Amino acid sequence: LPVANQIAAGEVIERPASVVKELLENSVDAGADHIDIEIEKGGVGLIRIRDNGCGIRATELELAVSRHATNKIRTLTDLEQLHSLGFRGEALASIASVSQFAMHSRFYSAEHGYSLLLNTFSQIPTIEPVPHPVGTTVEVRELFYNTPARRKFLRAEKTEFGHIQEVVKRLALSRFNVSFTLQHHAKTVLTLKKTTDEASRLLRIGQLCGTEFMQNALTVQYENQMIRLSGWISPPSYARGQADQQYFFVNGRVVRDKLVSHAIRAAYQDVLYSGRHPCYVLYLEIAPHEVDVNVHPTKHEVRFVQQGWIHHFLASSLQQTLGQTRP
Ligand code: ADP
Ligand code: MG
Repeated sequence: LPVANQIAAGEVIERPASVVKELLENSVDAGADHIDIEIEKGGVGLIRIRDNGCGIRATELELAVSRHATNKIRTLTDLEQLHSLGFRGEALASIASVSQFAMHSRFYSAEHGYSLLLNTFSQIPTIEPVPHPVGTTVEVRELFYNTPARRKFLRAEKTEFGHIQEVVKRLALSRFNVSFTLQHHAKTVLTLKKTTDEASRLLRIGQLCGTEFMQNALTVQYENQMIRLSGWISPPSYARGQADQQYFFVNGRVVRDKLVSHAIRAAYQDVLYSGRHPCYVLYLEIAPHEVDVNVHPTKHEVRFVQQGWIHHFLASSLQQTLGQTRP
């Protein structure tokens, strides 16, 4: 089984940032509203993520790191109505199979916490009581120590840490009600407070996307009974030479989608001269049965049921936002 887990790891755990992504999603799914992230050596040395979510029952700790253990899908219709981020039940098992893995957790109604340590050779867990606040800490050390080919593939620490920052950024952009800290080599790189109103949301946008975008961005807000689009887009004058500030979330998940980027470009039409890219942070909320998010394990793709209609909705609402700013 450890080998099966390592193979599965190959599919989703490409680099330290993939581990961070899976762990952060679990924390959010557990209802955490504060998450601390500690990184060493670009994530290869250490990834430690502590959340204040609901925690895991002592009796379920071992199950959590076994393959296809997920508490998130019970029936097929659950799959369609899926709101939680994780649903394959193999992330922890995969991560544990390619690292030195430990997890400490206290279930919200428990008196104290428990820790799970996995023996690196046998993968046999030991579970014992430890003091821990309500919530979960996952520690991943020496990532890919036993898969040298993959480890060799990793880039410089700084580059890997950059990928981690990007993962944190995406999540922070989609969960304004969660506060975060991010440390690299015990130095705090990012502190994000919870945001409650438009002003504090904009502050977070500034911290994550730069004050220039924050100051120039136009607010997007459209909704009808079917669909809701909100967020911020840059006026054509602020378009940039790189497509590096483009974030589109569908029901809380970041998405890279041709239809979406085409529709957004179409909204800018003639006002966007060639070689320039608009910047945007946009949120689309739509009935779950109108969109298939289960196209790819890393879940950056979506398939809309009514493609033409979505395209038209995006292009025309954004065009209106942009139009409002023209003299
Ligand atoms: P999935 O997220 O697809 O269910 P994972 O392997 O990522 O699968 O996690 C397995 C299970 O472990 C989860 O379904 C959840 O029950 C539990 N779990 C993992 N991380 C946490 C966490 N931070 N807080 C609470 N429960 C967690
Ligand atoms: Mg998960």
